[in-house]
Amino acid sequence: MTVKLSNVSKRYGKDFSLKNVSLAFETGKIYGLLGPNGSGKSTTLKLIAGLVYPNGGKVEVDNEEVTRKICRKVAYLTELDMFYPSFTVGEMVEFYVSQFADFDPKKAEQLLQEMKLDPGKKIKQLSKGNRGRLKLVLALSRKSQVLLLDEPFSGLDPMVRDSIVKSLLSYINFDEQTVIIATHEIDEIEPLLDEAIVIFYGDIIGQKNVETLREEEGLSVLEWFKSTAAQMEGKK
Ligand code: ADP
Ligand code: MG
Repeated sequence: MTVKLSNVSKRYGKDFSLKNVSLAFETGKIYGLLGPNGSGKSTTLKLIAGLVYPNGGKVEVDNEEVTRKICRKVAYLTELDMFYPSFTVGEMVEFYVSQFADFDPKKAEQLLQEMKLDPGKKIKQLSKGNRGRLKLVLALSRKSQVLLLDEPFSGLDPMVRDSIVKSLLSYINFDEQTVIIATHEIDEIEPLLDEAIVIFYGDIIGQKNVETLREEEGLSVLEWFKSTAAQMEGKK
């Protein structure tokens, strides 16, 4: 297991964002962490990235308990814009080269071309969609063991999303990487996923292998997600 959460709880103030969550993630697979807004998806990724710490339980990456230093092994695409607006695209890439030993500048160059991003352009002049693409370029250019993508397609228009979803697979190194994608937009990432995990206001309420789900239950991830979430709504 590259990533492991054992009985993890996280609260902000008196409200729990995660309640006694246990999850394990293997190398070579793409996991979808799916749930409505406010369910704890981003919190889960931040715990794995070492940006927040649990109030109870343990988070491990590569058999090491997570601290801030884990950023050496974990690439993390945040929900937020974490750019210096006065940097150019190329300067942002240089900055990443200086920060992360596993950053591959050649791959970044290739990705910038494919995403049609001009290295000379200032970040503040980029559209929302292009900033989204730049975030993807920066995350995908790292040869990290763990790749965390938080709402990676938000802000991209539907046509662009489709082509990026398709090309994403070619940028992942399945021999070495574990990929976790958090999103509330399930439909479009479905083709990427090996495993789907549903998180519902701090609880993990289901996990399925996507192929098994399709073959044995004849359900799409979205259909399964909806029925699982509906059962929970009924119980609330
Ligand atoms: P998701 O990514 O699924 O939308 P989050 O993990 O961002 O959910 O949030 C889960 C819950 O934790 C929400 O109720 C949110 O308001 C709360 N939360 C997240 N971060 C903080 C924070 N820094 N301070 C206070 N509450 C927070
Ligand atoms: Mg979130």
